[in-house]
Formats: sequence, C-alpha cells, structure tokens
Amino acid sequence: MLRTLGGCRPVLMVDALTSHIATRLEKMAQKIIQLQTRKDPQLTIEKLMGRVQELEDTQQRVEASAADTVAMAEDLLIARNEAQTAQNEAETALKKAQEYEQTIREMALQDPLTGLANRNEFQRRLENALKLARREGNFVALMLLDLDHFKEVNDSFGHPVGDGLLKFVSVQLAKATRETDTVARLGGDEFAVIMPNVNDLTRVALVAERIIRDLSQPVTLSGSMVQSGTSIGIGLYPRDGKDIEGLFKTTDQALYEAKREGRDRYRFFDEAINEKSKAERILENDLRLAIVRDEFLLHYQPQFLATNNDIIGVEALIRWQHPTRGLVAPGDFIDAAEHSGLMCDIGRKVISAVCEQGNAWEEAGLPPFQLAANVSPQQFREDEFVPMVKNILDQTGFDPKRLELEITESVMMENVDQAIEKLNCLRELGISLSIDDFGTGYSSLAYLKQFPIQKLKIDQSFTQNLTVDPKDAAIAEAVINLGKCLDVEVLAEGAETKDQIDVLVGKGCKRFQGYYYSRPVPAEDLAKLFSS
Ligand code: C2E
Ligand code: MG
Ligand code: MG
Repeated sequence: MLRTLGGCRPVLMVDALTSHIATRLEKMAQKIIQLQTRKDPQLTIEKLMGRVQELEDTQQRVEASAADTVAMAEDLLIARNEAQTAQNEAETALKKAQEYEQTIREMALQDPLTGLANRNEFQRRLENALKLARREGNFVALMLLDLDHFKEVNDSFGHPVGDGLLKFVSVQLAKATRETDTVARLGGDEFAVIMPNVNDLTRVALVAERIIRDLSQPVTLSGSMVQSGTSIGIGLYPRDGKDIEGLFKTTDQALYEAKREGRDRYRFFDEAINEKSKAERILENDLRLAIVRDEFLLHYQPQFLATNNDIIGVEALIRWQHPTRGLVAPGDFIDAAEHSGLMCDIGRKVISAVCEQGNAWEEAGLPPFQLAANVSPQQFREDEFVPMVKNILDQTGFDPKRLELEITESVMMENVDQAIEKLNCLRELGISLSIDDFGTGYSSLAYLKQFPIQKLKIDQSFTQNLTVDPKDAAIAEAVINLGKCLDVEVLAEGAETKDQIDVLVGKGCKRFQGYYYSRPVPAEDLAKLFSS
C-alpha cells in the first residue's frame, strides 16, 4: 500500500490506509449483521470477530509505522533544509575567500600607495614584453625614472606630502603613456615604464619629454607648493640588452648619465640614438620656429605634354630656407614635421600659397594651367581637411578646377571608406585628384576603381630604371594600360633622359615631369619657362 502510494506525502498515505481499513471493517460489520439473521451463525461470527481483531491489530501496526515514517520524513525535511542552509553558507564563505584571494593577489602585484604595478609585476610584464618582442621582431623600450629632490620634499614637508607627490607622479606617468605600456613603482622614488612593441623611437623620446615636462611643474599638495622633477634612463631591447638583467643594467647606466648631466633630463643608453634623438628635437624645434618665421617657400616643377612640349601643369614642391643650413629639401624635414604634428599647419600654408600663386600668374597673363599641391598623410587623415581646403578656395577665390591635390596610395588605403568619402567631397568642390608615386604603395586594384581620381603619377623609380630593367618597363606599361582602362590620365615622374621618354611614349604615355624638361624652379622663373 505504501509502495503504491509512493509518490504521496506520508500523512496522505496514512489517511488513505486508515480509510481503506475502515471501509473493510464497515463491510465486515455489515456481514456480521447479515450473518446474525441467518441460522447457526455462531461459528462464522466467531471467525469473523477473529478476523476483525486481526484487522484492528494490523491497523494499529500500520498507524504506528506510518507515524514513524511521517516522523522520519519530517526529520529528513529538516535535515534537507539544514543542508541547504549549510550549502548557502559554504558558498558565501567561498565567495568571500575568493574575493580575499583576489585582493591578496592584487596586493601582491600592486604598489599599495599608488596602485601601480609593483616590482614583481613589473618583472613579470617585462619578461612577457621581451618574449613578444622576440617573436615579433620589435623593440621594447624600458625607462627607469628617479625623482629629483624627493628626499628634500620628504624632509621639508613631511611624509604625507611625500606620499602625495608619489601619487601625483603615478597619475602623470599613466597620463603620458598608453594603456598597453606598463607603469610601475619599483620602490621609494623609483619608477619604471615598459613600452612594448616599439617601432618608432620618436614616440619614446616624446613620452620621456612629456614626463619630464609634467613632473617639473610645481604642484600643491596638502597646502604646500612642491616642485620635484625626474631623470630618465632609456634602454632598448634587444640592442641594449639581450635579457632582463642586461637591459636593466644598461638602462640604469643611462639613468645614471642623465642624473650626472644635470636633472630633468632623459638619456638613451645608445649614444647614436641619443645624438639622433637630440638632432630630431633640434630639427623639430627649428621647424616650429620656421612656421612662426615663415621660412618655407615653394618651387614649381612644370609638367609637359610630350606631343607638343606644352606646359600642362605645375607641381608645387616645398623648400625650407633655413637660417644657417641654407635651402633644405623636403626629404630632410617632412618626416620630422609629420612626427611632431606640424605637417597639417605647414600643408595648409602650402595649399593656400599655391592658390594665391595661381591667381598671381593669372593676373600676370600666364595661360591657365593646373597647379598641384602634395597632401601629407597626417593632413589627409585630419577631419577638418575638406572644410580647410574649401575655406582656402573661398578666401582666395582660386578656380577649384585648376587645383590638383596629390595623395599617396598608402594613405588612401588606410581607411578606404573614409578616403572615398573625403575624395568625393573634394571632387564635389571641383578639385582634381591624383595618386602620387603610384606603384610604390599597396593599392588594391579593386578599390582603385572606386576612387574618384583623375591622374596616376608613375613613380620616378620605374621611370628611371625602365631602360635598364625590363621589369620596371613592364610595371610602367601596366600602369599606363591601367590608366587607359580606368579612363584616368597617366603622368611619368622623374623623366631625366630622352630615352626614358621615348620608351614611355612608345607605350602610350603622354605626360611627363622631370629634369629632362625642367627642375623645380622658383615662382618668378616659371614665367620665363612659358615664354621659352
Ligand atoms: P613628389 O611629390 O613625388 O615630388 C617629386 C620629387 O621628385 C621632387 O622632389 C622633385 O624635385 C623630384 N624630381 C622631379 N623630377 C626629377 C627627376 O627627373 N629626377 C629626380 N631624381 N628627381 C626628380 P622634392 O622636391 O625633393 O620632393 C620630394 C618629396 O617631398 C615629394 O615627392 C613629396 O612627396 C614631398 N613634398 C614636396 N613638397 C611637399 C609639400 O608641400 N607637402 C607635402 N606633404 N609633401 C611634399
Ligand atoms: Mg608629388
Ligand atoms: Mg611623386
């Protein structure tokens, strides 16, 4: 009975059993009454009474065992609840233990005062950075920093101010670096920066300069005005050390040198880099002055149509009239200007000067021709580039159809959708567009057809070698045919000899720019070229 009612609660089972027995007893009683009316029922009644007794005994036993079962079930329920509570408590305790563990782990990796990586974590991250650099063939730059005058600050203003200064330093270091860099406090007033995946030493020098500049500013801490400063030693893996120990040693030596030279300085361990970095800084500084002093000027190189030797356009090429170095070619300063973020400023002046020169030549009675200006990668990437060009056109009133902008293919390929959008906007203004140094970047032919360009300029390296290297001749020919297919003009740059021009004319090229026709000349000489 219990088994068949197995799915029910024990109390329900006992109720069912009792009512079953009660029904049986009732049936028996009815049977006894029926038998009493019969003849000689005595024997049967006795039998039945015996049976009733048995049933009543069974009922008692069932009730007793059912009560036990109910009690057991209730005990089980209580035990189950207790187990659940214990499990919940255990889970909470485990969670707390995990949180403590995490805190302890963080404390083991972090400097408690500044929250920066501590020496252990620094060591681990440097190891990882070196491993990655070994695999990918990059540099890792390690900077060791030592605060200048920290002891004096501590002694004069007390430890709370000293602590405040260390926190201030950690915030400035985090600001000057990237998220992928590691800033660590190695102890006392010693800090370190790991810059993984370095492929541009200028960035390292710029970060060091920024740190020195920011930390040399006076700062108010707990009401006291404090001025510290820092010296920085810089080592590069793998050139200054093949492993952590080696790199640390040379970087420390560089730090020592920086301190010896007088504080608030950084030094690369490598003397050559030191010199180069210094030269770059000087160049950058001079460039800033050059912008203010307006030392840039433009030379113009004419472009010719081979069939009749007509001048069909000119390209503006920048020069720098340096106060001591004389006329400096763009190859010697464009990269530095790009790195230091000055190229946008310079490039804007170039486009503006080109438009003004075009107007001046028109007024002087020269026949109309296209004027091309080079656009630097940094300039083209700028959000404000198109509005800036439009603004110049509005201000100078120069005919946009006579302005051509030369952009290199690599810059266009950086972010194709954005480039197409910008180029379309420039086209809507009426400006012509050409791809400069074509063949040296990484043009995707699939994208090329989407660029709204009017001209491909064959890079001078192909023009100059095509008479000696059949492969260069084949590339030049391919570009000429590509121009035909895409319905854009093709111009060969760097044409120096009649032979080069003849070969290219034979392959269908009509437009040329190069020393064979004319070198870049000052604006005033161009009028003479027209008359000759
Ligand atoms: P580019 O735009 O490809 O300019 C052509 C360069 O080739 C010019 O060098 C020009 O003087 C030189 N060149 C022209 N014909 C010949 C030739 O027959 N033989 C040889 N060997 N060279 C020839 P430049 O003036 O030194 O300019 C170099 C590069 O500097 C330019 O290459 C251009 O990329 C950049 N540049 C010049 N001016 C500017 C500018 O205003 N803005 C920007 N962003 N870049 C400029
Ligand atoms: Mg050019
Ligand atoms: Mg070129």
